[in-house]
Amino acid sequence: MLRKILRALGALLLASALASPAALAAKGKTELHWYGQAAWKITTPSGGVILVDPWLTVPTNPDKNSIAELGRVDYILITHAHSDHIGNLAEIVKKTGAKVLASYGLYWNLMSVVGIPKDNLIYGGNIGGTIDLPKAGAKVWIVNAEHGSELVPPVYKAAPGQPAALASGNPVGYVIMIKGGPTIYHTGDTGVMEDMKIIPMFHHIDIMLACIGGYFTMDPVEAALAVQWVRPTHVIPMHFGTFPLLAGTPDQFRKALAKRHLANKLIVMKPGDTRSF
Ligand SMILES: [Zn+2]
Repeated sequence: MLRKILRALGALLLASALASPAALAAKGKTELHWYGQAAWKITTPSGGVILVDPWLTVPTNPDKNSIAELGRVDYILITHAHSDHIGNLAEIVKKTGAKVLASYGLYWNLMSVVGIPKDNLIYGGNIGGTIDLPKAGAKVWIVNAEHGSELVPPVYKAAPGQPAALASGNPVGYVIMIKGGPTIYHTGDTGVMEDMKIIPMFHHIDIMLACIGGYFTMDPVEAALAVQWVRPTHVIPMHFGTFPLLAGTPDQFRKALAKRHLANKLIVMKPGDTRSF
């Protein structure tokens, strides 16, 4: 009888362990959730949570309660100051107490203009820097992106007669190296650039999150060249379809990759999808 009870208790403990972040750690899995646009949630094997470019109210996100549903968030990485990347930053910092990393110029403006408390900001690094994210069991390498980084409405409202776009440092991409998990390259918003060739000289990229929408960034054909240069194991397209200007599609990307014999790298996700690696 006692043995039976112990066995039942053991099964119960196992079931509850499987449902927890600690169980993810036991399995060594890293979970990627895409909200839409450039907004991602990365759950690391140690149970740490990193958000990138947290526009959770992006219209393509099927889950309208994403902010309310957020639990633990350890870090938020911001690639540049544009509104579709700052997103719901202030609200999420207030709710979760997360620490925010942005490049140097944006660090100052997040404090002085956006109102992020200094205690919630990691001192702004810049391109070439590698910064420890101990609570997530990760490190992040800041890399170049060819784009702009101005605070604009609705995040920044200029006084009458003043410039409506406030320069906020360098736009960047992030190479996120997860202990016991994948190395993920989030391109930020960028055109294709030869600087991408440097990335695999330092780190093998397991998952590249690549903008493909065009107009402001790489389109599918340019992004396929970027994949050839970065040589990731997998590439997942993002920053397309949010509004009509971002017209690049995963199908166009697949065709462009196929021309370079790289189509086997492609994983297509929809906003609201989660994948484990
Ligand atoms: Zn953007």
